[in-house]
Amino acid sequence: MVDVPTRQPTAFAVAILVVAACQTVPLTGRHQFLLFPEGQEVQMGATAYRDVLKKGKVSADPTLNDQVTRVGHRIAQATGRNDYHWEFKVLDDKPVNAFCLPGGKVAVYTGILPLTRDDAGLAAVLGHEVSHAIARHSGERVSQQLGVQLGLIGAQLTLSGRDPRMAQLGTTTLGALATGAILLPFSRAQESEADHLGLIYMAKAGYDPTAARELWVRMSQSSKGQKPPEFLSTHPSDETRIKQIEMWLPEARQYYQPNTPPGPTAPGAYWYYCPSAKDYYPTVQTCPEAWVKVPPRPP
Ligand SMILES: [Zn+2]
Repeated sequence: MVDVPTRQPTAFAVAILVVAACQTVPLTGRHQFLLFPEGQEVQMGATAYRDVLKKGKVSADPTLNDQVTRVGHRIAQATGRNDYHWEFKVLDDKPVNAFCLPGGKVAVYTGILPLTRDDAGLAAVLGHEVSHAIARHSGERVSQQLGVQLGLIGAQLTLSGRDPRMAQLGTTTLGALATGAILLPFSRAQESEADHLGLIYMAKAGYDPTAARELWVRMSQSSKGQKPPEFLSTHPSDETRIKQIEMWLPEARQYYQPNTPPGPTAPGAYWYYCPSAKDYYPTVQTCPEAWVKVPPRPP
């Protein structure tokens, strides 16, 4: 039996940390610490998504599904991640919340829709959530936690010789990633980064980024005097967030192309014809009194 040199696992751990450290977030260029290949996060995201959909009540409302799918695909397209298998579902439940799991698995709770109001408001929420996935924030949180573990084990190894926990680390890592991708709250810095990236993605997708500011104002007003909605609870304070958004708006506007014709990009998405206005609209909200669902707008 070959005796493994005591210092080898420590060197291994250090090697992982050094290699993993060379990653940057798109657009912001922030360097980040990631221990896992993205493919592993994507796989875990897909598993967790199936689990959430199985336990939750997936809405069959065609109007809501059309809206979320249509806006969602436009945001997805703006990120340039065509390799993700994007999915957009509406969950019929009260939470004022939405999420995007690693790999582009998105869910929007019906509870947040009265606040998003229209496509642009929804684009602000989706832009934010999708940015968490694009910037690999879940993987980053898990990596940070495991990095601390690795550091502790490494320190003990050098003091006391081999540690059997090193061998178990692979299994622990997988478990932590599976739960971590969903359960770990994002840090404030990540929340701010998702706000920043989200503004750019929504603008690139053809939605006026000013709508994000309006959404957060509505969100903060709705939470006055009561428990803040889930969407806000782990996020920066309203005041900080709105100030930051105002600071990033000029940058986001450079990406905004208001002339981009809004149109259904998802297969099966429909437009609505408003007889009183004699015009076609992408959502029913624009013509609430009498709308007719029609196939994609004629050229
Ligand atoms: Zn967030």
